[in-house]
Amino acid sequence: MTKLLLFNVLDDEIGVIDQWLAKNPTVQIDTNRVTLTAETVDLAQGYDGIVLQQDNLIDDPVIYQKLHEFGIKQISLRTTGYETVDLKAAAANDLVVTNVPAYSPRSVSELVLAHTMWLLRHLNVAAKRESQNDFTWENLQAREIHELTVGIIGAGKIGSEVARIFKALGSHVIVSDPVHRPELNSVVTYVDQETVFKEADIITMHTPLLDSTYHVVNEAAFQMMKPTAIFINASRGAVVDTPALLSALKTGEIAAAGIDTIENEADIFSKDFSQSKQPNEWLQELLSLDNATVSPHIGFYTDIAVKNMVEISLADALTVIAGKHSAHEISTEE
Ligand code: NAD
Repeated sequence: MTKLLLFNVLDDEIGVIDQWLAKNPTVQIDTNRVTLTAETVDLAQGYDGIVLQQDNLIDDPVIYQKLHEFGIKQISLRTTGYETVDLKAAAANDLVVTNVPAYSPRSVSELVLAHTMWLLRHLNVAAKRESQNDFTWENLQAREIHELTVGIIGAGKIGSEVARIFKALGSHVIVSDPVHRPELNSVVTYVDQETVFKEADIITMHTPLLDSTYHVVNEAAFQMMKPTAIFINASRGAVVDTPALLSALKTGEIAAAGIDTIENEADIFSKDFSQSKQPNEWLQELLSLDNATVSPHIGFYTDIAVKNMVEISLADALTVIAGKHSAHEISTEE
C-alpha cells in the first residue's frame, strides 16, 4: 500500500479523490486542510509521498530536511505555479518537484468570454439598475461579438483557446506573441502589440508575468486603445499598471474592464471580508466603478480543472515514488 498525504484539500477535491481511490485500491490517501510549514511538516511522517496546493512559500530549510528524513522522495504540486517551492533546497534533499502544467486552458478562456459578453451587453449596468427596480433601456444598446476585433496579448495554451472561442463566434482575432503557432494560422492574424492596443475592440491578456510583461499595459497602452474598447485581464495582476487602469476607466479612455486578477491579490481573493475591511484600495476602487466587473481569480476554477489538478498530481506522485521520471518534473536549473 502506497500512502499519500494531501495538504490543504478543498471540499470540491474530496469527490475527485474518492473517485480516483476507487480506481487505485493499492493507494491510501489521507487529507488535511493545513498548509505545509515548519510547524506542520511532521504530519508527513509515515507517508510515502505528499501532494500540495498552497500560496504560502515553503521557505524554511527545515521542511525539506524533515521530508528527506521521513524518506519522502517528491513534492507533487496540484498547481501550475511552483514559485512557492525552494527548488534548490528540494534538490539538496533529493526531493523531485512536479507541477500540473495545464489543467484546463479552456476554463480560463470561458471566463474571458463571460466577462466580455457581460460587459458587451451592458449587463453590469442593467443589473445595477434592476436592483433599484429600474428596467429602462437607456444606453443598453450593444454591439454584436461577430462584428468586433478581439486582440490577444500572448496566445499560448490559454490565449489559443480564447482565440478559437472568439473565432467560432465570428470575431476577427488578432494576436501579439513573439511565438507564432502554425496551428493558429487559420484562426488568428499575428500583429504587433501596438496594433492590438490600437485596433482591437476587446483586448485580453494571456502572457505569463515576466520582467518583460510587468506593467506592459500602462498609461501609454491605455491611451492607444479605442474609447469603446473592453479590456480583460485573467492572466496575472501585475501585467497591468492598476492606477493606469483605474484612470482609463474613470476618464473614458476605455469603455470597460473585466478583471480576474489584480496586483497584490494574494491575501484577498478566496478570503471573506464581509465582516472586516478589505485592504486592497485598488480593488475597492475598481468595485465602485460601473464599467468594471471583477471575479476573484476563478478563471481556472471549473470541474474539469479541479479533476485534472488532482489526478495529474497523484499520478506524478506515484510515478516518482516508483523511481520513474514524470514528464512534469521541474528542473532545478531555473
Ligand atoms: P503559456 O506559457 O502557455 O502562454 C503564454 C504565451 O505568452 C506564450 O505563447 C508566450 O510566447 C507569450 N508571451 C510571453 N511574453 C509575451 C509578450 N511580451 N507579449 C506577447 N506574448 C508574450 O501560458 P498559459 O498557460 O496560457 O497562461 C497564460 C497566463 O494565464 C499566465 O499568466 C498564467 O499565470 C495565467 N493563468 C491564469 C489563471 C486564472 O485562474 N485566471 C489560471 C491559469 C493560468
